[in-house]
Amino acid sequence: SNATHQTDVAIIGAGPVGLFAVFECGMLKMKAHVLDALDMAGGQCSALYPEKPIYDIPGHPRIDAAELVRQLEAQAAPFKPVYHLGHAVTRVESHGDRFLVGNANGVTVDARAVIVAAGVGAFGPNRPPLEGIEAYEGKSVHYLVKRREDFRGKRIVIAGGGDSALDWVLSLADLAAHVYVIHRRPKFRAAPESVARMEALVKTGKVEMVVPYQLADLEGSNGQISAVIVSTLDGQTRSLPADALLPFFGLSMNLGPIAQWGLNLEHNHILVDPATCATSRAGIFAIGDIAHYPGKLKLILSGFAEAASAAHAIYPLVHPGEVLHFEYSTTSGVPAA
Ligand code: FAD
Repeated sequence: SNATHQTDVAIIGAGPVGLFAVFECGMLKMKAHVLDALDMAGGQCSALYPEKPIYDIPGHPRIDAAELVRQLEAQAAPFKPVYHLGHAVTRVESHGDRFLVGNANGVTVDARAVIVAAGVGAFGPNRPPLEGIEAYEGKSVHYLVKRREDFRGKRIVIAGGGDSALDWVLSLADLAAHVYVIHRRPKFRAAPESVARMEALVKTGKVEMVVPYQLADLEGSNGQISAVIVSTLDGQTRSLPADALLPFFGLSMNLGPIAQWGLNLEHNHILVDPATCATSRAGIFAIGDIAHYPGKLKLILSGFAEAASAAHAIYPLVHPGEVLHFEYSTTSGVPAA
């Protein structure tokens, strides 16, 4: 809707860290609206590796990324956050001691403080320069695997030589009909252990290495590819019959509009005071992957702690003059969802 929404804190980014910030703000009696460019919550966890297990979330020896996101949403739910998904924030303007956080579609959140939890910024896959590839994207050309099952029995071409490419070769080999691995040179950048496991699969015939080749063209119709054409630098070509192409050429990350908000930056990250996660603009805080300070670890668990620090630093802005009686969650509990 084109309304202006009043709240205490505007959180930009619904990744794991932005979601946990809803909880931390809620525990300190601050309401939040969350905006995200993507049409789902969970940031990198949902968009890049929903079915991968994470092993370094405290208290969870192993949890799939998508499940972590579900749990974070459930943990935030009692505080009734309002999510504006599919809304990339383009502007953050001061008015008095408040902020207008808005986007091109006309959604505006009016808040006393802003938490930027925008991860790597607006991110998207590096697309191979193949003519007409757009027509196949999301149908038979995929830049991420949302559900492994979708690839059962299929002939898959995986392109790329890094960890993502090899992870998916290893993961999909046992359910796909056939997996071609396209790489432009014989040497892979991926972890040596993954390369060794792939080579073992090559011996079984499940996986076929097509090197040194590059993607050259696609054949198909109505969004469904039928073959991937590859070629060597000296022009030899091969046509690989295939049902799906998965190119893994890394992510293009760009701060996009965030770079225009007058915040001190360093190499595409926002510099913050690690004690409070305050940026160079009073009232604007940054946490998670986008925040930088000496010794910063780009881990979900660090982002969680930063969310707590930021919420405590924001409390006196939202509740001026009120002394914060710090309580453990075991003492205060959470509202009924
Ligand atoms: P993100 O998850 O990047 O979320 C940021 C959100 O902000 C995105 O949804 C984005 O759309 C949104 N956004 C950006 N700009 C705007 C804008 N202008 N307007 C609106 N929304 C915007 N970490 C671990 O701790 N353990 C692991 O085992 C682990 N494994 C990983 C495996 C892979 C394959 C990858 C890619 C990462 C892994 N990570 C791991 C890193 C972890 O995913 C990140 O540290 C974490 O996602 C950072 O969370 P975040 O909320 O800060 O940012």
